[in-house]
Amino acid sequence: MNATTVTPHKEFVLYIEDLTVSFDGFKAIDKLNLYVDKNELRVIIGPNGAGKTTLLDLICGKTKASNGSIQFKEQELTRKSEHAIVRSGVGRKFQTPSIYENLSVFQNLEVSFPEGRSVFGALGFKCSDEVKARVQVVAEEIGLADKLDTEAGLLSHGQKQWLEIGMLLMQEPELLMLDEPIAGMSAKERELTADLLKRICKGRSMIVIEHDMDFVKQIASKVTVMHQGKILAEGTMDQVQSDPKVIDVYLGH
Ligand code: ADP
Ligand code: MG
Repeated sequence: MNATTVTPHKEFVLYIEDLTVSFDGFKAIDKLNLYVDKNELRVIIGPNGAGKTTLLDLICGKTKASNGSIQFKEQELTRKSEHAIVRSGVGRKFQTPSIYENLSVFQNLEVSFPEGRSVFGALGFKCSDEVKARVQVVAEEIGLADKLDTEAGLLSHGQKQWLEIGMLLMQEPELLMLDEPIAGMSAKERELTADLLKRICKGRSMIVIEHDMDFVKQIASKVTVMHQGKILAEGTMDQVQSDPKVIDVYLGH
């Protein structure tokens, strides 16, 4: 990118500069800069302990930054609570699914419809037609439209992960962050998840942390490689895969 084509600050959905967090003097994230565009699906890779999960923790407000700035749609997130960050349009999926096992797929999605989003929200109840329609759309997006009455605890591991993604989609996040979404999935489930991510990234920005290189190749346009709390490399899959620094610390092993 040359100087004349540098994208102005406000065109990035997520604009992170100088982000640092220390745990007892250890910098898990060290002066990190990261810029994510509208409608971009960014994959973050890197060795264990690189700081990938910590980065998501900082963006979603679970961990407070020691220094630096996280701007999302020009709002500073480092000063907001986790709830306020969710309300501003950031959804984050943790590594282990947190669904309600004894509720049906439908109910899991229904309870995830944001309070106050419905026109009737202020009156303290949800417009059932509006919620049902949204549940239907999301269930189709996550491939569970024929499982709406199934108890969530009876779903396969992969289906549970998709359900949790669906629960986040109920809130229509503009930035959706997934931490190792295919961990523990079967080959077939991994393939379906790649398709799912390509479907749901339309109209929103996404950050996906993943280890499986075949999977990354299927979904990624731009890959960021993290190492020791910093960005080691950034580019297309081909660019990062042939980068000697990346081969040295990560792909070579
Ligand atoms: P990754 O997800 O890339 O494997 P993490 O973000 O989980 O890496 O961890 C980065 C580093 O920060 C690791 O060395 C980890 O032990 C450390 N770390 C993460 N969270 C904390 C914490 N709350 N307190 C102390 N150290 C932490
Ligand atoms: Mg991690």
